[in-house]
Amino acid sequence: MEALTDIGYMKSVLQKHGFHFSKALGQNFLTNPTVCPRMAEACGLTKEWGALEVGPGCGVLTRELAHLADKVVALELDARLLPVLEETLAEQDNVKVIHGDVLKTDLTTLLQEEFGDRPVAICANLPYYITSPVIMYLLESRVPAECITVMVQKEAAERLCAKPGTRECGAVTLAVQYYAEVEKLFSVSRGSFMPSPKVDSMVIRLKPKKELPLEKEEEKRLFSLIKAAFGQRRKTLVNALQVSGLQKEQIKEILDKAGISQTARAEQLSMEDFLKINILAGTKSGL
Ligand code: SAM
Repeated sequence: MEALTDIGYMKSVLQKHGFHFSKALGQNFLTNPTVCPRMAEACGLTKEWGALEVGPGCGVLTRELAHLADKVVALELDARLLPVLEETLAEQDNVKVIHGDVLKTDLTTLLQEEFGDRPVAICANLPYYITSPVIMYLLESRVPAECITVMVQKEAAERLCAKPGTRECGAVTLAVQYYAEVEKLFSVSRGSFMPSPKVDSMVIRLKPKKELPLEKEEEKRLFSLIKAAFGQRRKTLVNALQVSGLQKEQIKEILDKAGISQTARAEQLSMEDFLKINILAGTKSGL
């Protein structure tokens, strides 16, 4: 079995199937032989586990996952890659490739159907154009995975792993960190891909929290407050939070009760501060 990180071999298989890379689908395939084994290793897989891969491309990471897991399901949007994967994964009898869009797939049902009660890890070299939507989709739908190991643009990794109170912290940081513990694992240079993207990447790992403090309705309000606060991050909260439907006087009262300065801006707040504001805003709106 030839290595898919052998550029000559990869090119010949892709050519044979008349495949051309699509920029729109974020197709940058890994050619650095050290990256996929490290990513698969980081999932903590054993032969009792299932693995879901998003966007297998030509199957380079899929093969590594298949070595470690009992079964791998790989979800690929680009139908042109299905015959390629049939060839490159011919020797992996524990892999099932499904044609579909991750953002339109009911993953909880899929995982239940494919893996039953087995623990599951999700692993992906994510297409850059939908990094945050995919991560938020996985977390908001509370997909029953033990861990999510993904490669993302370095800047996106900095944002997702930022500490509250720093400049890198944004609405998406707080949203992701509400649902999961998140950590940076290792950097991957742009030269590790074919074709090379214009930016470097980083592998990060998210561990979804088993218990969340809020019900769905309260979560919705929390995220609309966070979005409003960061939507105009240069403004003080008193001004920015009005977008969420609260009156200026109500916001001042809420901040007072929460012990937060009237001149504070979104990036100075911790998640606990937003949770306090959320409870008080709920009282105000009668929710
Ligand atoms: N895993 C391969 C690798 O590491 O070399 C390919 C990674 S490439 C960055 C992203 C892959 O995701 C491509 O194969 C692309 O066709 C696929 N993809 C793009 N959008 C998708 C979507 N919405 N659902 C599922 N797969 C998608």
